[in-house]
Amino acid sequence: MPPRTIIEPFRIHSVEPLRMTSEAERREAVIGAGYNLFSLRSEAVLIDLLTDSGTGAMSSEQWAGIQRGDEAYAGSPSWYRFEAAVKTLFPMPHVIPTHQGRAAEKILMTAIGGPGRVVPNNTHFDTTRANVEATGAEAVDLVIPEALDPALEHPFKGNMDLARLDAFLAERARDVPAVFVTITNNSGGGQPVSLENIRGVRKLCDAHGVPLFLDACRFAENAWFIREREPGQGARDVADIVRDIAALADGMTMSAKKDGLANIGGWLAVRDDELAARCRNLLILTEGFPTYGGLAGRDLDAIAQGLQEVVEHDYLRYRVRSTGYLGDGLRQAGIPVMRPVGGHAVYIDARALLPHVPPLEYPGQALAVALFVAGGIRSCEIGTVMFGRHPDGSERPAALDLVRLAVPRRTYTQSHIDYVIEICAEVASRAGDLRGYRIVAEPPALRHFTARFEPLAS
Ligand SMILES: *Cc1c(COP(=O)(O)O)cnc(C)c1O
Repeated sequence: MPPRTIIEPFRIHSVEPLRMTSEAERREAVIGAGYNLFSLRSEAVLIDLLTDSGTGAMSSEQWAGIQRGDEAYAGSPSWYRFEAAVKTLFPMPHVIPTHQGRAAEKILMTAIGGPGRVVPNNTHFDTTRANVEATGAEAVDLVIPEALDPALEHPFKGNMDLARLDAFLAERARDVPAVFVTITNNSGGGQPVSLENIRGVRKLCDAHGVPLFLDACRFAENAWFIREREPGQGARDVADIVRDIAALADGMTMSAKKDGLANIGGWLAVRDDELAARCRNLLILTEGFPTYGGLAGRDLDAIAQGLQEVVEHDYLRYRVRSTGYLGDGLRQAGIPVMRPVGGHAVYIDARALLPHVPPLEYPGQALAVALFVAGGIRSCEIGTVMFGRHPDGSERPAALDLVRLAVPRRTYTQSHIDYVIEICAEVASRAGDLRGYRIVAEPPALRHFTARFEPLAS
């Protein structure tokens, strides 16, 4: 029997002090920020679960890579190490480095998007959707219906709805420059896509003559879920599962701030020579020369090393279990969370926890502010603040009001997570006392980043 306790598969080599704050200090900080957690100085935050993007800890070998980094403008050895590491997992002929994922999206969509085009995806991440729409093309989400029920258990809640994709392609294939599969499905809570489902998407793409691209930001977490949950995959090496996924795709976009285990970076990879040439020309306009893209040589080395570490089974077992541990702890405290817990974040159903706060009084914002004041925990509202305002000026409740607790990679220990669970349970025990908010100032778009709020009188 293997030991029951799954430990962090690392020890700490360099520490970053956390600044303890009092509730009074936090209350003052959040008032100064207009009750918007994006507007806080991060020193006021004790446990920062705003995002898992670029916020993880690098390993000693990655820091050694930073020293090894070679800053030659063209043909640096760092570039060759980066390219080799990418191609070990994703053997595609053309790898184009970018400063982060959205730059890869921008370049690809500029090359293949445009008015009249339409891009299906299981669920577009927000920057992906924005980059599709910025070209005048349309973004369509075709995730399975199970994904939309927060309480439903399903092993692969990120799967594409193959029947709907087939019907869609039958009608629109001529207008589809690529079908995208996002692994894991970020907007759906970090839910994985099965290998069988990606094979099904490939078959439909072949039948309708359209390319298949991966939004591969959390490819390693997705491959780990395949190993754990998909029949016949349990004895396999995760790196082999990743290569199986890669073999099904014509190209990919990637943010190295996620499963690159780096603080910055990304890439675009494609098989088609002509498309690669067009993308490289765009790269030179906005990112840089094709052997560094938007990155320093040292960043290329940090990513090259990160790609070796991210497919280690001990790392992935710890990663997925530690996120699951947070979800289990919250559930045991009676807090409604989206099921099953995904790879990188736990989502609290704020609408269910605060039924007395109507969606247009922002229950997710109320909970997020309360978690910060009570314990210095920074989370992210994903609900009516983020999605409620429409281009025609109207405001409507979002489909769900969630609070996301995203877990940075290799950064917090189990006692930090125990603390988070304790604070959440304490706040949940007085959820009935929490009051809603109103927005006193908001920009015309993407209001959640800069809006200012005021608490409603109790
Ligand atoms: C983060 C992310 C992106 C964009 O990457 P950035 O590095 O933040 O620009 C695209 N798709 C998904 C699924 C992501 O999680």
